[in-house]
Amino acid sequence: MLTTFQNNILIWWGNNKRIFPWRETRDPYKILCSEILLQQTNAEKVVQVYNKIISDYPEPADLSEAETADLEEIIKPLGLLKRAGRLKKIAAEITQKYDGIIPADKKALIKLPGVGNYTANAVMCFAFEKQVGVLDTNTIRILARVFDIKSDKARPRNDKNLQNQLNKVIPKNKSKIFNYALLDFAALICTAENPNCGKCVISRICFSYSNKE
Ligand code: SF4
Repeated sequence: MLTTFQNNILIWWGNNKRIFPWRETRDPYKILCSEILLQQTNAEKVVQVYNKIISDYPEPADLSEAETADLEEIIKPLGLLKRAGRLKKIAAEITQKYDGIIPADKKALIKLPGVGNYTANAVMCFAFEKQVGVLDTNTIRILARVFDIKSDKARPRNDKNLQNQLNKVIPKNKSKIFNYALLDFAALICTAENPNCGKCVISRICFSYSNKE
């Protein structure tokens, strides 16, 4: 069942992957910026803002010296303007404490201002290609529907058991592409409302689907 899940998701993704500029880079600074901008925001909307920030502030030191008002103006189309100050603070800490280099260490990442479990794991996975699942509302939904794996915690995103369960379904040495594949599958097929089960390549192994019929 697990092999079918992994293979079918990867084959589906080969034909359906979404293209974003932050997926075309391995630069941890750019990936960290993208993850802050993607928080609670539709990925398609983020592209223009991400490109502007990376072009105006190509290094953490540049971003650390940005005027908060200028950053807020750039981020305005996305809302959640507090991210302007957050980006600046992160960049300042990276510049001062880590000499401008994003640490390849989850414990260090999670101590940065506004960086939680999800963002730290996303950077570890997408920038440093570490073997870890990126646990968010999307992957939580897939675990629940496909495998009937649910959290009883108030904050499932921080549930260590759920994190371990997700890590187990990520194929070895394919962490980065498989996490991207899961995010795209959740955005395009296994959506929060009205999942497109008729076009789903894993419906025959899906717990939720087989219990609907
Ligand atoms: S069958 Fe439906 S609920 Fe199950 S994984 Fe596919 S889209 Fe999601």
